[in-house]
Amino acid sequence: MVADLKTDVLVIGAGPAGSMTAKWAAKNGAKVLLIEKRQEIGSPVRCGEGMSKEWLGEVGIKPGKWINVEVEGARIFSPREQVFEINEKHAGNEVGYVVERDGFDKQLAIDAANEGVEVVLKTAAVEVLKEKGKVVGAKVKQFGEKFDVRAAVTIGADGFESQVGRWAGLPTNLALRDMDTCLQYRMTNVDCDTRYCDFYLGKVAPGGYVWVFPKDDGLANVGIGVQVSQVKTTAEARKYLDAWIDKHPGYAKGKKIDMVGGGVSISAPMKQTVTDGFMLVGDAARMIDPLTGGGIANGCIAGKICGEVAAKAAQTGDSSAAFLQAYEKGWRARLEEKLYRNWLAKEKLCTISDETFDKIVDALQGVRLQKLSVHNILKAVHEKYPEVTKEFEAFL
Ligand code: FAD
Repeated sequence: MVADLKTDVLVIGAGPAGSMTAKWAAKNGAKVLLIEKRQEIGSPVRCGEGMSKEWLGEVGIKPGKWINVEVEGARIFSPREQVFEINEKHAGNEVGYVVERDGFDKQLAIDAANEGVEVVLKTAAVEVLKEKGKVVGAKVKQFGEKFDVRAAVTIGADGFESQVGRWAGLPTNLALRDMDTCLQYRMTNVDCDTRYCDFYLGKVAPGGYVWVFPKDDGLANVGIGVQVSQVKTTAEARKYLDAWIDKHPGYAKGKKIDMVGGGVSISAPMKQTVTDGFMLVGDAARMIDPLTGGGIANGCIAGKICGEVAAKAAQTGDSSAAFLQAYEKGWRARLEEKLYRNWLAKEKLCTISDETFDKIVDALQGVRLQKLSVHNILKAVHEKYPEVTKEFEAFL
């Protein structure tokens, strides 16, 4: 029989958002327990492994062995495969790395442990504990035994399929149109350009895109995300990806050595991410960028803010929803405007024809953007095809 535990801050889930939250709570003086249901942090990998790099310093992550390839930029391919290249000159700091995601997640957990966080594996939260409506910890299961962990602040960092948020009483349910289903092959012997992360838009991936993220030794992550409401079954995503590969000889000759699937949210930001004694962070809080499907950076950025507020709440003894608003306000100030703008852009992009995609990429030929943003892209398109941007006027 395992004895019940007590801690200042309990973080549920040791993905990037959870480890970052735990680290920053400990750095600010809290006693932190980070629980992870899997036996190995970061494994199995369910990720394209692409990320920008400009945010790493902000959250105290040092570049490390987890970087597999540093790319010069990204290439957007229109349906007729005209290319818009986004390099550092055009895009400032929006380009970055293709990483070893398992190594990255492990490093963040190591960083958290080095700040004093207690990391406990193979331990799953199975319900949240509540007293008079306030979350006061979680019941956890470890090797078949259940025990309570009581905490001043409990944090749900349990990823896209989050149950913890629902148990705490936050409205985390997603409509089908707010979800992409993703499938990815690790491929070898493909002709990809290791200088770029590539994105293919249009009907090749309804409501999403095909990606090719290069890795070293002739490997690449070749994947697809499609809007769940636009495909009848998730098996259809595979058909789209296979069809794309078959049409591209440089990939059709390659060999698939690994396959992963998973979901990402493409919704507008959640309205509420805190309640009494509880905060939600990362994919669990739908912080994925709805345009790109990338969630590592946002989860880490929000995680830092979450950890800092959690530590303060534990120190002051006030973990009421009112006190935790500091987190709600903090992450929204940093991330919400871009999330919302990209959600609006995604909503539009899901409805436009291949012909319009072709015009957008065509209009961007030779354009030098100071910074990569939906706003700047639309301004450039507006100059050549004003009729295309008519329906996007709100952004302009
Ligand atoms: P997660 O990384 O999902 O971590 C949650 C953790 O909680 C997991 O370790 C899980 O085991 C644990 N957990 C769950 N329930 C419990 C419980 N009850 N008790 C204890 N532990 C629990 N993003 C990018 O930025 N770039 C990409 O290239 C990219 N590609 C992607 C490709 C695919 C196919 C998919 C599906 C997603 C991709 N994403 C990408 C999104 C990215 O993986 C997520 O945004 C990121 O992992 C979010 O981190 P997180 O910490 O919030 O959640």
